[in-house]
Amino acid sequence: MARPYDTTRLAQVHARSIQEREAFWAEQAKTIDWMKPPQQILDYSKPPFSRWYVGGETNLCYNAVDRHLAARANQPALIYISTETNEEKTYTYADLHREVQTMATIMQSLGVKKGDRVLIYMPMIAEAIFAMLACARLGAIHSVVFGGFAAPSLAARIDDATPVLMVSADAGMRSGKEVPYKHLVDEACRLAQKPPAKVLMVNRGLAQCGMVAGRDADYAALRTQHQAAQVPCAPMLATDSSYILYTSGTTGKPKGVQRDVGGYAVALAASMRHIFDCKPGEVFFCTSDIGWVVGHSYIVYGPLINGSTTIVYEGLPIRPDAGIWWQIVERYKVSAMFSSPTAARVLKKQDPKYMTERNTSSLRRLFLAGEPLDEPTARWISEALGGTKIIDNYWQTETGWPILTAQHGIEDTETKFGSPSFAAYGYDMRLIHESTFEEVGANEKGMLCIAPPLPPGCLQTVWGDDDRFVKTYFSAVPGKYLYSTFDYATRDAEGYYFILGRTDDVINVAGHRLGTREIEEAIQAHPNVAEVAVVGVADALKGQMPMAFAVLKNPATVQTEEGRKAEEKAIMATVDKELGAIARPGRVHFVTLLPKTRSGKLLRRAMQALAEGKDAGDMTTLEDPSALEQIKAVLKT
Ligand code: AMP
Repeated sequence: MARPYDTTRLAQVHARSIQEREAFWAEQAKTIDWMKPPQQILDYSKPPFSRWYVGGETNLCYNAVDRHLAARANQPALIYISTETNEEKTYTYADLHREVQTMATIMQSLGVKKGDRVLIYMPMIAEAIFAMLACARLGAIHSVVFGGFAAPSLAARIDDATPVLMVSADAGMRSGKEVPYKHLVDEACRLAQKPPAKVLMVNRGLAQCGMVAGRDADYAALRTQHQAAQVPCAPMLATDSSYILYTSGTTGKPKGVQRDVGGYAVALAASMRHIFDCKPGEVFFCTSDIGWVVGHSYIVYGPLINGSTTIVYEGLPIRPDAGIWWQIVERYKVSAMFSSPTAARVLKKQDPKYMTERNTSSLRRLFLAGEPLDEPTARWISEALGGTKIIDNYWQTETGWPILTAQHGIEDTETKFGSPSFAAYGYDMRLIHESTFEEVGANEKGMLCIAPPLPPGCLQTVWGDDDRFVKTYFSAVPGKYLYSTFDYATRDAEGYYFILGRTDDVINVAGHRLGTREIEEAIQAHPNVAEVAVVGVADALKGQMPMAFAVLKNPATVQTEEGRKAEEKAIMATVDKELGAIARPGRVHFVTLLPKTRSGKLLRRAMQALAEGKDAGDMTTLEDPSALEQIKAVLKT
């Protein structure tokens, strides 16, 4: 039986983190190394902006690498495993220190200075992590763009972040096939208004990599030249920025989540102990990608700041077979693992022998996040792993570390399937009724909000747009500064939270957050599309899949079955080209009219409900009922 949350030590720690906020976070700050201690723990004089550890000076790279050299120089820091290229390489902390300094020197030679932006568009290779850490070392602000994004998406991020340098590679690999990057890099530089002056290319020998004279530099050549380079860690104000990471929201234009230095370092160090319960020297395996926030926090910075060993994995969970991750767990005695519910569902389709035949006894906990974790999957994977505890944790790009989670480093509480447990220390949660704006009671649905000040590690602002930060995140509840997560949730009488889905037009495909507007804008690039609506539809494997309903300028093209198929394929290809294949709709349906209210608002929820075989709901505001009939009809095809 779960004990009521409010009688546990966890609840007491949580209460203290809110009531004695500064004392709590002053204690946490002692676990990182400071060049100059902070003079003020929190400056909240300009709500809703919180500035943590004001006056303090530190460096993320110093905390992730240099400070471990005295005790852990020969301990593996990073183990790179690629089942795509069949490579495996271990870098000790001493090796990592050397590689990062070399990378930092190369960046300096290409003109990178403190405060400059560097865009990293890379596959999952060790050099991508060297590049991130090298930026941190120099005080440059990195912006990692997921390698699956297409050239126009990359160009939009270039124009927003205005990097002086882009770091890329000739190709990524997926399922044994090369995924060339260089032509996308060239195309993005051509499309961007403010392309970077320099591009540093890591040539893996996988694809054609024609170099642009005067702009492109070859990493291998420069690496030989700067092998013994030494570069000190730049003293950074805790309140300086460490990185920008773009994420989707309601509008078409992705937002640049801007993170600080000191608060982030402290938040991650604290989370490695209190949430992930991973000790220095232990092995942490996060299967995400550095293009996402989980990768930033728990492939790169968190485990390294903690003095743990991080596994960097390029490949699929089922190649060469579905035992690969458990083989890695066995071989490297992984203590804590972090993955996604979609990956767990992929594995669930395979023979459980792949898990049971490996010795996974070192694995204390498997953390799953990024999308809702369904109970059957959680149960299945826990059983297949011989009872390993499954920790559903809920958070966002914006927060940088878990908002709702079990915290076994503090107390061994029970978990409930389907629930990411409790608010993490530092997060002052509110569940607010959508129309009364009052706090809801137990088991009542509300908008999940955080009362500011946001704890350390959360976004400082939206890059270059303070106004957008305030308007986007703090206007869900009139007259009050409450940070909206844009998720609905309930909390039961014992304090366990349950996430019910987004309040906005964001969908979640295999843990990847996509804006339906973004996908609609991409589809609009197809010359025959007059109007389009995209909704997220429940999918047994990926959680949700985008589905598009398009009105064509010339509907004659889809009059035959052949024509319809060709047009659907062409629209999918347009999404691949404009945004990236991760956003490709599972289906594109053709209609002559979209369901709208009399005031012209698209009735997305109705389309989504129908696509999921549910009732369309209240349709009294619908302008033309035949639009819904058309949706129903095409869904049968
Ligand atoms: P991202 O910023 O890409 O990490 O996406 C964050 C969003 O993913 C959240 O706002 C939720 O909608 C969803 N999400 C993340 N973790 C969970 C979880 N454990 N359970 C349910 N939804 C989640």
